[in-house]
Amino acid sequence: MAEFTLPKNSKILKGEKIDASNGGARPKTFNVYRWSPDDLDEAGEVKNPRIDAITIDLDQCGPMVLDALLYIKDNVDSSLTLRRSCREGICGSCAMNIDGTNTLACTKDIGDVKGDIKVTPLPHMPVVKDLVPDLNHMYAQYASIEPWMKSDTAAPTRERLQSESDSLVLNGSDGHGPAACILCFCCSTSCPSYWWNGDRFMGPAVLLQAYRWIADSRDDATGERLDQLEDPFRLYRCHTIMNCTNTCPKGLNPAKAIAEIKKMMVARH
Ligand code: SF4
Ligand code: SF4
Repeated sequence: MAEFTLPKNSKILKGEKIDASNGGARPKTFNVYRWSPDDLDEAGEVKNPRIDAITIDLDQCGPMVLDALLYIKDNVDSSLTLRRSCREGICGSCAMNIDGTNTLACTKDIGDVKGDIKVTPLPHMPVVKDLVPDLNHMYAQYASIEPWMKSDTAAPTRERLQSESDSLVLNGSDGHGPAACILCFCCSTSCPSYWWNGDRFMGPAVLLQAYRWIADSRDDATGERLDQLEDPFRLYRCHTIMNCTNTCPKGLNPAKAIAEIKKMMVARH
């Protein structure tokens, strides 16, 4: 596959209009972002992205947006490209922008959207193809926080135990603690600070994960982890805009996790 680079001054064009509802009783139109680095025009230049308007009969597919996209892929256009795996809101693979909000296609009910449904990739990310963003940079940022337990004591023969109150810090009393993050990156790609400074700002997803280890009572590398984040860009580019918390499809609160890290920074000075 060619490098994923949009044409210079690219704009999103109107694409094909496909009625695949076959006269069914519940037609619904999905306006789907399409782009491939391999689609070249007659001059050999990469084509602009386009929005295809595809109408299907909802009686032919399941209730979620992912069901509709997979129906389209299986029955209308097999070249439609998207990530998906568990279809249970657990793997985070099918994160995309649906009807203007970053969310998971597998848990987004088609019935929640009145009228046509617009589906585009997670915003402000390079696109590999169609609805697939390039997440390499985010995974590199995730790796940089060393997301594994660092302990000064020898590994026990069984689990490292934790008190119930310590485990609540990670899991939350309602199951919405930082350990429940599925790394879908809906939050980071909704954050204006990350849009403009994503090369150096870690973004809410990675900072929530950093907090998950900083706050773990079994981890002994708190000082080292805080040192690594003490930087005008990595942590302090968060301006508490709260888009991250508002968009998280798992109901987590990355903005609060970031605020906790900032508090710990202040406390240790
Ligand atoms: S905090 Fe929420 S939105 Fe962000 S990566 Fe984790 S699960 Fe996804
Ligand atoms: S609270 Fe911070 S991380 Fe979350 S959207 Fe706002 S600036 Fe971004």
